[in-house]
Amino acid sequence: MYKKDTIAAISSVSAEAAIAVVRMSGADAKQILSEVFVSKNAVHNRRMTYGHIVHPETGALIDEVMAVFLNAPATYTREDIVEIYCHGGRVSSKRVLRVLLDSGARMADHGEFTLRAFLNGRIDLSQAESVMDLVKAKTPKAFDCALRELGGASSIRMRSIKETLLEVVARITVALDYPEEDEEEVSWEFIRRSLEQTVDEIDHLLKSSEHSRLLRDGARIGIVGRPNVGKSSIMNLLLGETRSIVTNIPGTTRDTIEEAINIGGYPARITDTAGIRETLDEVEKIGVGRAKQVANEAEIVVYVLDSSRGLDDEERELLSYMENRKAIIVVNKTDCCDDHVKNDINNKLTDKFSTLWVSALAEPEKTEKAVKDALYNILKEGIESDEVLLNERHRELLQSAKKSLNDALLTEEYDLAEVDTRAALTAIGKITGENVGEELLHTIFSTFCLGK
Ligand code: GDP
Repeated sequence: MYKKDTIAAISSVSAEAAIAVVRMSGADAKQILSEVFVSKNAVHNRRMTYGHIVHPETGALIDEVMAVFLNAPATYTREDIVEIYCHGGRVSSKRVLRVLLDSGARMADHGEFTLRAFLNGRIDLSQAESVMDLVKAKTPKAFDCALRELGGASSIRMRSIKETLLEVVARITVALDYPEEDEEEVSWEFIRRSLEQTVDEIDHLLKSSEHSRLLRDGARIGIVGRPNVGKSSIMNLLLGETRSIVTNIPGTTRDTIEEAINIGGYPARITDTAGIRETLDEVEKIGVGRAKQVANEAEIVVYVLDSSRGLDDEERELLSYMENRKAIIVVNKTDCCDDHVKNDINNKLTDKFSTLWVSALAEPEKTEKAVKDALYNILKEGIESDEVLLNERHRELLQSAKKSLNDALLTEEYDLAEVDTRAALTAIGKITGENVGEELLHTIFSTFCLGK
């Protein structure tokens, strides 16, 4: 899979901009630069040089640029790298890239620079994957977590698990080869303790990465409630614009509307749904079903009630739908609610939920702040307890390692336990990228951008 040829790609976005960057990596990078770059100054390692890119055969001027040569191995890919900073926009970078390709470089595949960084041992696979998380981070908090991962936050822990398991395998081997050996360190008791400690460590990693998906993709927040209670009004306040159509005809938001939102640094996706209500109207029925589905899929539910209408049995039943999940109850329209109804609602709401009394119409700023603060507190509580950012691939491999180790603990026989421990080692190794097949690498790196 690793061809040692020289690759090139545009590493910046192709759009009107001040500067674009074209990058090249490989043994011929310096040679190719010398063929296409004309400057009054010599090109020194790690020093920006001003000059022009010209066509190597015709001498035609391509662009005025700054170029830098980075000598291997202290580079992103551990190969020689050239970066050319040309004018931004849609033309220049493509022309510069074309000249590099005409001079012997090959167009890089998606993520091929990072793939080379991994294959050349500069970073492990989970670190390479965090490069993608950095690029895709939707908020500074998600970016910071990915940066910690690139620094090796979970890689270090995987390495320590691996070392423990390698030691277990070594002890089992001694126990099998020298059955007369009665050292404590090769006793089943000792091995059992090591295996149990590793299972605990894996459990801890799984627990402290539970919210990784939320940071990566954003928490799904579903705004649900019966028609006309003020869901769209609240969604519009949260988004700061009129995105959902507000009307006073029940059931108008028939489909769902989803928007990305940043809640105090946490990325989230917020969905306004058709009103939840058992209905005979066929069109609305679809929306109602969808709303229940969103309530089920959402990590956080914002359940909106209309305080002027009170809480009937049907609504109480719908509220019970929200129990056992993270939900905020927003009692809206307090501007037209009398004390009698208020007391009635208060008596009927259980203390299972955090309840906000608001008026989206009369007190929009206060409402927006109250809902945002409540969402922020729920997100913070969950995400801040996380220590590592793992993706689903990592978590599945950890689950599989844990299962193998539990099997080993159950067998209590050295030879069978060895097989299980080796299986766990293989799973952990796959997280950091040992013995991973070409196909998996292709799947992972094909999601990267070109030029990364
Ligand atoms: P949805 O069907 O749940 O999305 O509700 P909408 O946001 O479309 O609102 C339905 C109606 O209630 C609209 O006429 C809104 O102006 C009105 N409304 C929303 N919030 C309030 C509020 O706090 N007080 C009052 N009096 N009316 C509100």
